[in-house]
Order: sequence, then structure tokens, then C-alpha cells
Amino acid sequence: MNINEIKAKYIENIKILNAYSHALNVFHFDHSTIAPKKGMDERNETLSILSNIIFQKQMDPEHISLLKTLYENREKLDKYTKRLIEINYNNYIKSQFITPELQYKYSIAAANGYTSWLKAKEKQDYNLFKEALGEIIKLQQEMIELRPNKSETPYDSLLDDYEKDHNTAVLDKFFNELKEGIVPLLKQIMASNKTIREDFLTNKVKIAKQEKFSLYLLKLIGFDLDAGLLSTTEHPFTSKISNHDVRVTTHYYENLFVSNIFSTIHEGGHAIFGQNEPSEVINHYVDNNMSAAMHECISRMYENMVGRSKEFIHTIYPKFSKLFKSEFKDVTETELYEAINAVHPSLIRIEADELTYCLHIIIRYEIERDLINGNISVDDAKQAWNQKYYDYLGVTPDNDSTGILQDVHWSDGSFGYFPSYALGNAYAAQIFYKMQNEIDVLGLIKQGKVTSVKKWLTKNVFNHASMMDPNEWIVKITGEPLNTKYYIEYLKNKFTDLYNL
Ligand code: ZN
Repeated sequence: MNINEIKAKYIENIKILNAYSHALNVFHFDHSTIAPKKGMDERNETLSILSNIIFQKQMDPEHISLLKTLYENREKLDKYTKRLIEINYNNYIKSQFITPELQYKYSIAAANGYTSWLKAKEKQDYNLFKEALGEIIKLQQEMIELRPNKSETPYDSLLDDYEKDHNTAVLDKFFNELKEGIVPLLKQIMASNKTIREDFLTNKVKIAKQEKFSLYLLKLIGFDLDAGLLSTTEHPFTSKISNHDVRVTTHYYENLFVSNIFSTIHEGGHAIFGQNEPSEVINHYVDNNMSAAMHECISRMYENMVGRSKEFIHTIYPKFSKLFKSEFKDVTETELYEAINAVHPSLIRIEADELTYCLHIIIRYEIERDLINGNISVDDAKQAWNQKYYDYLGVTPDNDSTGILQDVHWSDGSFGYFPSYALGNAYAAQIFYKMQNEIDVLGLIKQGKVTSVKKWLTKNVFNHASMMDPNEWIVKITGEPLNTKYYIEYLKNKFTDLYNL
């Protein structure tokens, strides 16, 4: 076979693999949204069998020999296929010594992890989750040990999976810079005399009304509802089945309406990314290969730099005051803006204010690093969690559900993901700064033209995302490597204004 025939054969396999993944993603979505409790255990088995079939097909010797030949001849391929082959080859190198048995064991452990976490969270008891968590960590360590070119520590290997060329040394420096910027600002805010009205944040709002508002927000930011949908779950996420089927989830709390507003905008940001990659990238099967932090960059940008801005609140206020006339009749536009930006060190990450958010991430980063590297045990993790919340934020969880059980990530083995949120914030600020230099983005948002953000991102950011590693990508967009000064400056400007510092 010549190289074109090999490529055609390989792409044929990729189409079949994609069909399996497609089915698995739909199944997974169902599992996390509408599946009944009692069906969970048998579903876990089905999910594991399906993902094992995909794994075996990916590792099939004939398929791997096509991949190796294409990798050796990658300079002869078009740039999209070359990128696809490089990504798949690197993934193959990492997992080549993992047996199908070990992969199956791991996916069963991850599926059980999710169900134990759900039960434990409901009962507010970490003990019900500990064993499943320990099993996931043990199997991850085993799989990392099988990699041929390991990073310095097991956790470094996982960080590199999510964010290429990132490791603990890079992140320690990054988080220190953030701490140095955030902690003094937080102290100034805590000492300020400004009073922000927040009593209405716990007013009861019916779920049906909140859902109406979510759909309005998704349309406003440019989410295509003909190529996606909105559903509910325990812990909000977005699932890209294909660019024409991107599913957003949220969680409604009757006594905390803002939680849904910002979950919806955050997941809507992920979804807009999923719906708007260039067709060449999609047609060459290389879409959705951006890093986790690149994805979080877009969702955090929508959530905070767009969604929590004065200009965005100005645009949504008429709809807000009309729809929620009975719930918030005396709440002014300024009061709404101030309340959703008020700073309080608190227990729950996804409801944290923009300033203290990164401190929540630092806590998770330190604990998961120590768990994966074997420096603390699952028995010690809860104590470490509570201690760090006291040390960094001055608060102590009242139960395990508002403490160590609050996030879904560890239950399905996503260790190494948390730093992506903080990196995403920093990427977002740097890119938003660049956007503001090119278009009057906040002015446009104030006029209701929120989709101008999507337009600029599609042209300047989404275009390159799956085609580049993060370090190259941020330089391509902004002309310089990741620099925390943009994020710290952004926070300083915003909160100095809000708290009259
Ligand atoms: Zn996200």
C-alpha cells in the first residue's frame, strides 16, 4: 500500500472508533443526567465493556502498524492529518503496555467511583467513598508505572496529559504568583467598609423560571440550540457528542438562583467552543483536541469576564427584572452586579467568588498531587482538606458534602484536571486583554451584542486550538507566553473599583 492508501485505511478505522465513542458519549450523558438510581450498577458494567472494546480496537496490532507507518511518514501528510497522527501516536506510546484487563479493571473502578461518590455525597459521609477512591488511585499509579517515558513524579505524568509540558515545577511557580497577587488584595477587601446588599441571593425562585432564564442566557451568548441541548445533573458538565450535538448541563437550587446562572454561562462557554471549531479541523477528525485549560479558558472567560461584568448585567437586567418581577422587584442593576461579585472566603468551589476561586484550586492541587505521589493516604485526605480550607480561606466544612465530597473529578479519576481551571483563568485574562485591544468588547456587550465575543474567539482562538499545544497556542493568539500579570491586573482593577479600595 502507498501512503495514501494507508491513510485511507487508517481513517476508515478512525471513523469506526468515532462511532463507538459517539455511542459511549451518549450513554455516558444519559448515565449522568436522567438514568434511574437502581440501574446504575449494570450501567457501570456496560460503560466499562464499551470503553474496553474501544481500547482493544485502538490497540489492535494492524491499526497500530498503520499508525506507526503514518507517523514515520508524517511530513508527507497534510497538516491536519499530521496533527491527528502525532496526537494518536503519543497516546499510543503512553498506553502501549496497558493490558485490556488492566484497562477494564480501571474503567470499572472509575464507574464505581462515580456511583459511590453520589451515594457518599448524599449521605455526607466520606467513608462511603474512600475505598473506591483508593482503588482508582492504585490503578492509576499502576498504569503510570507502565509508561515508557515517565515524568519525574506520577503526578507530573498526569499534569502533562492535561496540559502538555506542564509539571509541578511550572505550576508551583504559577500558583505562587497567583497567591502573591490574590492574598494581599483579599486582605484589603476584608478590611474595607463597603457594604454590598446580598439578602436577595437566597430568595426562592422556581426551577421552571430558572430554566427559562438559562435558555435565554444560552441564546444570548450564541449557543446554537439546534446543535445542542440543556439538561440537569448533580455536578454541571458539557458533553460534546459532535459539533452538531453539544450538550450542556446545570443544577438548579431554588434558594440560590445565581448558582444556575453562572453554571449555565460557564458550560455554555465550553459548548460554544465545541460548536465552533473550523470545518477543516472537524473533517480531518482532529477536533476536540484542545487542552483542558484551553477549554476552561473559554468557559471561565464567559462566566467571569463576560458574565460577571457590569456591561453584561446591564444587558440582562431588563429580562431579569421582568421574568423575576415577584422575586426581585426591589433589586437594582447595580445591586445585582455587586451581589454576584461580592467576595467571601467560602466552602464551595463552584459558588466561589472570582477572587478566592484560585485558592480553592490550590487546595485541590496540593491534595491530589500528594495522593497520586503516595505522600498521603485516602484516610488522611479529609483531614488535609479541612486543614487547608482553614489555612487558606479561614473556613471549615460543616460536613463532607460541603468539604471533600463536593467535586465530581476524583470520582472518575480526573486527577490533574483541577489546575486547568486556574490556568484557564490566566489564559482568559491574557486573551481578553488582547480582544479588548482589537474590539470594544465591553461596549458591544453593553449594547446586547454578546455574540461579538464568539465571533472574535472563532476567528482568533478556536481556529488554532486543536492544532496546537497550549504554549504555542497562547503565543500565537497574544504574542507572548502565559503571563499571570494580566489576570492579577484584571482582578486588581475589578475589585479596587467594586470595593472602593
Ligand atoms: Zn469547565
